Amino acid sequence: MPHFPEKNGPDIAGAAALFDYIQDLVFLMEENQGTFRYVYANPAAFKILQLQENIVGSPIEDVMSSEQTELLIRYYRQVQTTKNPVEFTEKIDAENRELIGETVLNPIVTEDGQCKYILAIVRDVTERELAKRALIETKEKLEVFWENATDPVFFINTKGEIIKVNPAFEKTFEYSEEEMVNQKGSIVPLHMKSDPKAIVERILKGETVNSHETIRLTKSGNPLNIISSYTPVRNANRDIIGATIFYKNVTELKKAEKDLQKSQEKYKLITESAFDIITLIDSAGLIEYVSPSNEKILGYPDSAYIGNPFTTNVHPEDAFGLIETVTSLMDGDKPATIEVRFQHQDGQWIWMEVSPTPVLTDGNVMQVLTIARDITERKRLQDKIAKMAFFDHLSGIPNRRTFDNRLQAAIQQADRSGKKVAVLLMDGRKFKQINDRFGHDTGDAVIKEMAIRLQAAVRPVDTAARLGGDEMGVVLPELDSLDLAEETAKRILASYEEPFTFNGYDIKMGAGIGISLYPDHTANEKQLIKFADLALYEAKKADRDEYVIYGRTLLDNVLF
Ligand code: GH3
Ligand code: MG
Repeated sequence: MPHFPEKNGPDIAGAAALFDYIQDLVFLMEENQGTFRYVYANPAAFKILQLQENIVGSPIEDVMSSEQTELLIRYYRQVQTTKNPVEFTEKIDAENRELIGETVLNPIVTEDGQCKYILAIVRDVTERELAKRALIETKEKLEVFWENATDPVFFINTKGEIIKVNPAFEKTFEYSEEEMVNQKGSIVPLHMKSDPKAIVERILKGETVNSHETIRLTKSGNPLNIISSYTPVRNANRDIIGATIFYKNVTELKKAEKDLQKSQEKYKLITESAFDIITLIDSAGLIEYVSPSNEKILGYPDSAYIGNPFTTNVHPEDAFGLIETVTSLMDGDKPATIEVRFQHQDGQWIWMEVSPTPVLTDGNVMQVLTIARDITERKRLQDKIAKMAFFDHLSGIPNRRTFDNRLQAAIQQADRSGKKVAVLLMDGRKFKQINDRFGHDTGDAVIKEMAIRLQAAVRPVDTAARLGGDEMGVVLPELDSLDLAEETAKRILASYEEPFTFNGYDIKMGAGIGISLYPDHTANEKQLIKFADLALYEAKKADRDEYVIYGRTLLDNVLF
């Protein structure tokens, strides 16, 4: 309940009815012998300040802090003396917050000219004051930003005229604020004259535009790549009065980007025109990039590799070696080249030589680049060379070198197993006559045919070789006796009985065979061949195809 002075005070009952409903805090103070006491407080004051009922009659110092009391009493005195209202802003401690009050002290002058009563009306302006303070702070911050921003910032009016630029603007574009504000300078290239107009139109619509890429010129004519963003500026009535424009000079960035693009294009050109397959492997062992030559060589599209392990389509026998080579590189070992088979889309295996190189980032191996070269042709040549070394170029059967190796191996095997090795030496009979009659080419064909029939007549474990001219030899390993050697010799000679038809001629080939047996005849390899040769010599004495075992004669053949 509001409290009214009961006697000796002004009659404000009528006014109090009004005070009941206003949001301002209303107090009536009475001075008595230098002490100011509350005689009335309105409901708003009770509520906001959480006043106790017994405030009425209390001296001000019982309600307010000593500081506040001192200040207020000073104002009260001023009102009493001047008999004029006093206005001030004060901080008031409300129950749980600090309140900013805009106070008007009104003197109430009685008929005797005395001013014993003061009506205080306090308006809570906390919200407004805080907003004002925040605005000032923002302005101060903006000022700091404006002055120290490294990027150009400027204001334009609704006509698009520049009205203020910051120091970074002046530095970037080499124009002074004075030049820009008086429209003496322009940063818009001639061909972009419509740019600012479009910007103004959008701003007037209240649009905020972020990241718009454009070109602006410095005073000396240097074009700069600019990313601009602008926001409308409004006055207190929310009318658009211009815009703040923020520029980001990205010229250097653009240049770096272009340089990077150029170098990437260069590398792309190198990798894409390369015959070799260039692959980039990430630190997890997955393929990040594979050059187009990949599809030409292996038939698969890039998608078959990207994101897959680098051993994709590698021959299972070669995968381990490749993994070892690449991972050792990641561990900091020296690059090593490895030959690996990759499967072509059509299923065949392609030999590739893979050279991995580490790609360093900050000194660490973050990726591995491999260059894989198709070495099918090289492998084919290598095979051919190997064949040439160990096989007879005319007949394709093993040559003398292989014959010697196999004989040596067979002897070593026989030494371990306790079995025997037979050597058969064979020479074509009257071969010169074949050459003379049918020509050298036919002679060649006959030699080939002899080789084919010879090979067909022996076991797979035996080695039939052409030793030179019309001379051939067979190594028969792991024999129990001479029997199999004799059988083989008979089978060979029997296979030569059938004439060889070539160029319309039926050509009869003939041969003599000499046989020696290890270790029965000799334990010496050279001797063994020599003995077979002696036996061959004996066999060739016959006027027909014959074989002779070392130590025997043609006559023995007849007798046995
Ligand atoms: P023999 O009955 O005594 O063995 O007499 P032959 O005519 O077979 O002569 P010999 O074994 O002494 O010599 C082999 C001949 O085979 C010598 C050469 O004219 C011929 N000849 C050697 N190598 C080749 C060859 O690669 N191609 C052809 N067409 N002939 C060859
Ligand atoms: Mg001969």
